[in-house]
Amino acid sequence: MRIIIDQNLCTEPERCGICLKVCAPQVFALHPEGEDTLCPEKWVVDPIWTTFCIQCDECVKYCPRHAVFVGQ
Ligand code: SF4
Ligand code: SF4
Repeated sequence: MRIIIDQNLCTEPERCGICLKVCAPQVFALHPEGEDTLCPEKWVVDPIWTTFCIQCDECVKYCPRHAVFVGQ
């Protein structure tokens, strides 16, 4: 399964996090970007456990920034 998040559209995932909540199998992870993980300047959401995806399309449907692509 190919799952892509457009990081240019998903600019504040730590405030949004909707894809994290609607994905039942927990495919996504929110993590800090950069060296300083105790005081991160930027957070990103990435699809990590893509083999768990059940293709429900909830993340695509509910992402307010239309930043998620799920396909083959
Ligand atoms: S399509 Fe469904 S299971 Fe797959 S990543 Fe999106 S919300 Fe999760
Ligand atoms: S729902 Fe969309 S905008 Fe919100 S954190 Fe997920 S990918 Fe980013």
